[in-house]
Amino acid sequence: MPHLRNILEDLELPIDGNGDLSVISPIDGSTIAKVFQTPLNEISQMAERSQTAFLKWRNIPAPRRGELVRLWGEELRACKEQIGTLISFEVGKILQEGLGEVQEAIDICDLCVGQSRQLFGKTITSERPEHRMMEQWHPLGPVAIITAFNFPCAVFAWNAANALICGDPIILKPSEKSPLSGIATLNALLRAIDKFGDEAPDDLAQAIIGGATHSKSLVSNPHMALVSATGSTSMGRSVALSVAQRFGRRILELGGNNAMIVTAHANLDLAVRAIVFGAVGTCGQRCTSLRRIFVHSSLSKELLNRIEQAYASLKIGNPLNEDTLVGPLIDKAAFEKFQSTLNRAKSEGGEVRSGGERVLEDIYSEAYYVTPAIVKMPTQTPIMREETFAPILYIVDYDDFDTAIHLHNDVPQGLSSCIISDNMQEVEYFLSVNGSDCGIANVNMGPSGAEIGGAFGGEKETGGDRETGSDAWRNYMRRTTNAINYSHDMPLAQGISFGR
Ligand code: NAD
Repeated sequence: MPHLRNILEDLELPIDGNGDLSVISPIDGSTIAKVFQTPLNEISQMAERSQTAFLKWRNIPAPRRGELVRLWGEELRACKEQIGTLISFEVGKILQEGLGEVQEAIDICDLCVGQSRQLFGKTITSERPEHRMMEQWHPLGPVAIITAFNFPCAVFAWNAANALICGDPIILKPSEKSPLSGIATLNALLRAIDKFGDEAPDDLAQAIIGGATHSKSLVSNPHMALVSATGSTSMGRSVALSVAQRFGRRILELGGNNAMIVTAHANLDLAVRAIVFGAVGTCGQRCTSLRRIFVHSSLSKELLNRIEQAYASLKIGNPLNEDTLVGPLIDKAAFEKFQSTLNRAKSEGGEVRSGGERVLEDIYSEAYYVTPAIVKMPTQTPIMREETFAPILYIVDYDDFDTAIHLHNDVPQGLSSCIISDNMQEVEYFLSVNGSDCGIANVNMGPSGAEIGGAFGGEKETGGDRETGSDAWRNYMRRTTNAINYSHDMPLAQGISFGR
């Protein structure tokens, strides 16, 4: 069993602090550390310092900025084991998932190093003779990064690596439930900045410790050119209104309600493997967790039996033990929501086929371990349209494919989705404009575990934005369109003749 004290020491985190924010481990409910919240009246000064840093950082050539991100990746490689373990302590993810999260941060650094040499604009043909048009991408300004408790390292890195290569300083506001993993990831960046030397301005990367009040103060600050916020839909609604009021930019990565369609042509071996990881990974506390299955009635019974069998063999327990597959829920409130949601599902005609119980209470009286629940629903009832951040898997039978697609899309959220089918028509239809309405649509795999190369994000109440991968770097820059006249005349566009 790794020693938390050594890990905190290695990662330069407080051990004997006596701050006003207790960081609780969901593994056993113990206090990991007491950290100091940032005084609220310091936030505007931090934002000003970030703006000053911007004026210098934006003039460092982008490939040099990429070099800083390369150094960050190296620092993260050196402490992958420690941060991965800390994520397990702080979030309750199994160690493999904790390590995977740090690897995701390393991967985004690698991607952004290459991207720093490819912040391409277009050259555009002009309708006027001896004219040329082009677009350029310029640094945008300070970026506020607000993260959710469940991905404290990777989501920060997605945003910060993109922002830094694009010429933008960052201010991190990690979740008050898991600030240490975020700060450890930031400390790795600060070590990289030290190695990078004088080209990096002071205050290129800062952090604010606190909760929603701290976040709100940062979000409303006019120096924050971009606010990238990851979390619940209610948080996103508040951030969107505040940022819109000052015409700032935002990236919102909010809740998901991710589904799978298992068609009559599905390979059930693949389906079961995808379902189990998708539904119980991180104890159902991923934004991309699998929450709803629509299965063709010809396969429904067999699929249900096989999922029940797979669930029966899941090892639930301390996420640091090697054989554990399901760790705890984050806290008591999450457990109460798990229970009340199951009660509502029952009242709407659902049958809890297995799971839904609190376990290990005798060993961990202050922690919340549960058996992941499988609930057979008569159809898609109102409770299924809400995201419950816990391992509840609803299963609904369907007879015709159009109904399955309709039910699949008939929720307010639009993050991730998937189909299990060996039938080309079904698969292509699912991927077409008439199919899944989500930002992510997968085939013969589950909805979670995205790679960083693809744009990540979703539609509808998920926010509509993209945080990383593909051309998401553009969100961290501003575009200028330039028209250049190299003639000795002054022709006007649209053939307008003015004064001659
Ligand atoms: P949360 O909304 O409670 O908190 C997220 C962050 O927002 C925290 O840092 C919190 O301090 C801050 N915050 C809370 N209220 C705020 C407000 N009014 N204004 C500004 N900031 C505020 O979410 P959580 O419980 O930490 O995380 C779970 C949620 O996050 C789920 O809904 C999940 O789907 C979502 N999530 C989405 C993604 C994605 O990429 N789409 C990734 C991870 C998590």
